[in-house]
Amino acid sequence: MSTNHLISQIFRKELLAMSAYKVADASGLIKLDAMENPYNWTDDLVESWLESLKTCELNRYPDPEAKQLAQTIKDRNKIPPAFDVLLGNGSDELIQILLMALQPNASVLSPQPSFVMYQQISQSLGLNFINVPLLSSTFDLDLPVMLAAIATHQPAIIFLAYPNNPTGNLFNAEAIKQILVAAKGLVVIDEAYAPFADASFMDELTQYENLLVMRTVSKLGLAGLRLGYLVGAPAIIEQLNKIRLPYNINILTQVTANFALIHHAMFDEQTQKICAERIEVYEQLGNMDGITAYPSAANFILFRTPKDKATEIFAAIKQQGVLIKNLSPQGGLLADCLRVTIGKPEENQMFIGALRKALLPG
Ligand code: PMP
Repeated sequence: MSTNHLISQIFRKELLAMSAYKVADASGLIKLDAMENPYNWTDDLVESWLESLKTCELNRYPDPEAKQLAQTIKDRNKIPPAFDVLLGNGSDELIQILLMALQPNASVLSPQPSFVMYQQISQSLGLNFINVPLLSSTFDLDLPVMLAAIATHQPAIIFLAYPNNPTGNLFNAEAIKQILVAAKGLVVIDEAYAPFADASFMDELTQYENLLVMRTVSKLGLAGLRLGYLVGAPAIIEQLNKIRLPYNINILTQVTANFALIHHAMFDEQTQKICAERIEVYEQLGNMDGITAYPSAANFILFRTPKDKATEIFAAIKQQGVLIKNLSPQGGLLADCLRVTIGKPEENQMFIGALRKALLPG
């Protein structure tokens, strides 16, 4: 039997039809493609972090519940006392855990465009994934269409990224509340970009029994650790915990994240710098002929380029040493769109300069 025959016999057809999540090679480039924090730690902090790592016993399995880290996360995020947290190897893993818990024929709903892993993981598990287009003018929720899709498909889970990736905006909070009321299933508010946004549903957990709030430390400045957390009613978290692999948060992540969250002042400062730079970059994009920049409550900005020029402009910017994200190939509302992550001021200026040059005729 040929390998291809074997593969088509044993793997799900949805999996065969998918392509893997691709990450661009950024070697030698200024990296403004993946919503990372561009700043390093101070030397003093690195010293005391390395000191804290000395206590790690690498020969032992880590605490399967990561109790200390979970407590620090609860304290730092003002999580209401009656709620529990589930830790994941990145919030990607939490999305996977949630989706693995569903009934085989369940539907999963998310607005489009949004974070691609909701769809990617749903399809890999053979679930029925429903997209509802956002409004083309503002990228806000199209509430009547969302409510109609909820009534028709009765999704087991709705994912709402707040702020949304890749558009950067915060959906209307009143619309989200109507969705929470209308939904018979779970509603996950994915607050991956919470450090840069002045809004959250964490305080609403006590109001809606189907609400889960998901966050990550990735955008804050700890993308290399892979740590996300899901907050919800203990009875829901208890079920999901059965699917989580026993030692999914390794000891280096447990100790480092705990250390970093206690020394949060440095991250708060970095976040403020990134937010100030976001204003700067947004204004400069707004002053460029042919560019439409969309308001952002996250650490990136989505912008539209002249028709059918996005891929060319993306390549010209890369040629000048700056890697951003080309979303135009995804089509739909993202046709002609590029996304830039906010970096250090000098990196942002390199990007702006490269974009200006890429827009020059000829
Ligand atoms: N949610 C959203 C909305 C995201 O944009 C991302 C990362 N791009 C994630 C979740 C995943 O974050 P991580 O797995 O790094 O925690």
